Amino acid sequence: MTASEILDHHKVKKTTPRIALIQVLQESSGPQSENEIRDVMGELYDRATFYRSVQTLTYAGIIHRIVADNVMVKYALNNCEKGHHHQVDHAHFYCRKCHNLFCLKSIKVQSLNLPDGFVDEEHDLVIRGICNQCGDSVTVGDV
Ligand SMILES: [Zn+2]
Ligand SMILES: [Zn+2]
Ligand SMILES: [Zn+2]
Repeated sequence: MTASEILDHHKVKKTTPRIALIQVLQESSGPQSENEIRDVMGELYDRATFYRSVQTLTYAGIIHRIVADNVMVKYALNNCEKGHHHQVDHAHFYCRKCHNLFCLKSIKVQSLNLPDGFVDEEHDLVIRGICNQCGDSVTVGDV
């Protein structure tokens, strides 16, 4: 599905920054931070527009936001290819060594049994540690 098809399907107005943002995420191997997205977007990047686009696309269910730690937020596409699956149902993994964030699609986050009257709008499971690319090079005491 192309970026403009995704926007059409979600009845979101097609704008150049929105299309560019979706394309960056489509072409990347995992969730991207604002800085990483800005580097790829180049001249199309504008801070205020970026935040508005992120809000619109998150609200429409096109992307999801992952809070990796208190300074790092990354963005990833939702699964529009396979029947538009928009709940974030998977865990994320943040590598403290290479600072890559991974969508662990195979690790499902169960829906939670909240007490009466509590409404779940967003819940995250972020596992922090060392990824399989960095694992071999880690020695005891290494940070
Ligand atoms: Zn979709
Ligand atoms: Zn790593
Ligand atoms: Zn994800």
